[in-house]
Amino acid sequence: MNTSATAWPFSSSQGESNYEAALRRYPGQAIVDLAAMRDNMRHLVEVVGGPRSSTAVMGVVKADAYGHGLIPSALAALAGGATWLGTAQSHEALALRKAGIGPDRCHILTWVYNGTKAPFDELITNDIDVSLGSLAGIDAVAAAARTLGKTARVHVKVDTGFGRNGFTEEGFGAALGKLVPLAKEGVLHIVGQWSHLAVADAPNVPEFVASTDRQIEHFNTFTARMEQAGIAPEIRHLANTAATLTRPAIHFELTRPGIALYGYEADQAMGEPADFQLTPAMTLQAQLATVKHVTAGHGISYGRTYLTDEATSTAIVPLGYADGIHRSASGFDAVGARHTDKEGGPVRVMTAQGTKVFHVSGRVCMDQFILDLHGDAERLGVHEGDTVRLFGPGRGERCGEPTADDWARTADTISYEIFTCLRNRIPRLYLHAQDVLSPADLALLDPTSLL
Ligand SMILES: *Cc1c(COP(=O)(O)O)cnc(C)c1O
Repeated sequence: MNTSATAWPFSSSQGESNYEAALRRYPGQAIVDLAAMRDNMRHLVEVVGGPRSSTAVMGVVKADAYGHGLIPSALAALAGGATWLGTAQSHEALALRKAGIGPDRCHILTWVYNGTKAPFDELITNDIDVSLGSLAGIDAVAAAARTLGKTARVHVKVDTGFGRNGFTEEGFGAALGKLVPLAKEGVLHIVGQWSHLAVADAPNVPEFVASTDRQIEHFNTFTARMEQAGIAPEIRHLANTAATLTRPAIHFELTRPGIALYGYEADQAMGEPADFQLTPAMTLQAQLATVKHVTAGHGISYGRTYLTDEATSTAIVPLGYADGIHRSASGFDAVGARHTDKEGGPVRVMTAQGTKVFHVSGRVCMDQFILDLHGDAERLGVHEGDTVRLFGPGRGERCGEPTADDWARTADTISYEIFTCLRNRIPRLYLHAQDVLSPADLALLDPTSLL
């Protein structure tokens, strides 16, 4: 048995028994290192000039902090020096405040809502900044602010070429027509002007660099129009992870990195996490189910897309697409029904012959997938119950240390989707919470989730 391969730095015997309880509850675990997350944020704060610079950093914690867990991740980001938090959906912004992260600690911005039904009254009451990118949104936020008798803090979203939220240059006259009187009256406080970049993650593609330059030009044009109208924004923000790391000229007063907080660069073409001094925070591991011998030519999983090419052993990893393991990370071989070789997602297994990486063999199923061990399990020392690693911090699959980027490549997607698809039936367990968080913050977390 090689369970010692998964010896985690438990903070206490309670941490260890939380771990054992999680293994009994579910055969896969996402282990999130809060010290890595804090250090990633610390680094991002340094990148924009340090804690005393005029540029602040927002930890983007939308979508349950990219699947890492909203509250623990938000607290780690704050411990690393973030002074803003951002969520797309408003319920997550409210959850942060309800957890006890008050306006004395950080600003919170939220930007995705249905303007006709969103809880603007609750957002304003809880001192949450709201993005305004549509005329209906302006009307609704203004109405809520009037009813409450409380000024709403807003950030004007402009579409500089991303083609998603925000006012276009053509539509901006009408927006200013509404915003100017509301700002003068004190119904709205125009805190910020902001926009989002489409291709900042391709700093080596001239065409994309030029397109980002055009977005920046448009951004400045919008600012000039706001100034002329007498509602100059106090702060401007445009930079996501990619631009925070590679475009210091557009850090302005605030940057909004998301994926870097979790330890990844925005695009594999930019390089690897280590090139940017980032450490992946999440490890996804599982405990093997059935390990058995099969003969040569044995079909593996639905559709017979993978046939064993020799007598071998297989092992079941009890996670599937209902856990968020992408079906597109399935692996095929040329003798299978697809008549094509396609490597599946990588899994690191500790064997008697050292660490080996095997790949998803055949189709990913709902709750499980299968690994061809290309050898005899007994000789390899691989057994049911062994803990294997799908991804974690490391130098990538070619060094025997698969990352979420490797899974993204085999599934034809991006690390963001690998993380956010992971379902919450997989326990999230937190490392180093005691080192990173104050006792008061620690008390906000589920004690059974702490290692
Ligand atoms: C998600 C998001 C970010 C963060 O993007 P990353 O590429 O993860 O850094 C920043 N701004 C907005 C508006 C976003 O939606």
